[in-house]
Amino acid sequence: MKILITGANRGLGNHLTKMALEKGHSVAAGVRSIKEAEQQMKHLKDQYQNTLLLVELDVTSEQNINQVVNQIEKQWGYLDSIINNAAIMIEREKTVEDLDMDKVRLTFEVNTFGPMRIVQHFLPLIYAGENQAIINISSEAGTIMNAFPTNYPYSMSKTALNMFSERLKEYLKDKRIRVYAVHPGWMKTDMGGMEAPYEPENTAAKVINIMEGKVKSYSKIAFIDFNGRPMPL
Ligand code: NDP
Repeated sequence: MKILITGANRGLGNHLTKMALEKGHSVAAGVRSIKEAEQQMKHLKDQYQNTLLLVELDVTSEQNINQVVNQIEKQWGYLDSIINNAAIMIEREKTVEDLDMDKVRLTFEVNTFGPMRIVQHFLPLIYAGENQAIINISSEAGTIMNAFPTNYPYSMSKTALNMFSERLKEYLKDKRIRVYAVHPGWMKTDMGGMEAPYEPENTAAKVINIMEGKVKSYSKIAFIDFNGRPMPL
């Protein structure tokens, strides 16, 4: 499969990239700085010269996204799957009175509008692919009755991402393009911290299985956990 993964230089995105390459897929790995990623991902670049394509991709930049669309169109001509993984979590402990609205806006730009922009611009390439899947990496923080007392921007951005995923799932169902919003579990990454119970490589393996269509989804809704079970809305 030909796959686009955003936020591929570290955390879950990096493990998704590694796992997909190991399984023989071709990956366009979206990173914000190619220069830095060439260092961070040198071993992968060396090992997968023919199947790893590093692409400069800031999900807040429409111009940047269009450049990558053109690059992938020229290189591959189609795309089978997208994993919208890139996200930020800022202003986590702030009460509503103290929230910086520019940072709230930025969170939506990355976590919600980022995946929307990517889908908007890459759909023509996805239509040309096979066994297609669009996976938006979400979070249990997007469940309305979640256990987090603050974390306004992140939680709200993921709830909106879940709604986008549901609408998109309906929109693409006649074309048999699968759409999921996957809660990846609390993982040991820069975002999750080292006390988290899950290893990102284990989640990555499960997400790749979902992308390949190997996990039976028990859910009618797009928002699922990495085992394919429905998440509470
Ligand atoms: P990390 O913070 O470790 O990595 C985030 C990635 O997103 C980095 O590659 C970062 O790139 C990239 N990124 C940030 N902003 C942008 C942008 N504007 N454009 C493109 N890329 C960007 O996060 P995780 O790996 O932990 O999280 C991966 C996904 O899993 C996220 O969607 C997150 O919300 C979700 N998740 C994570 C949980 C956890 O416990 N870790 C729990 C639930 C959900 P750069 O290095 O350039 O900053």
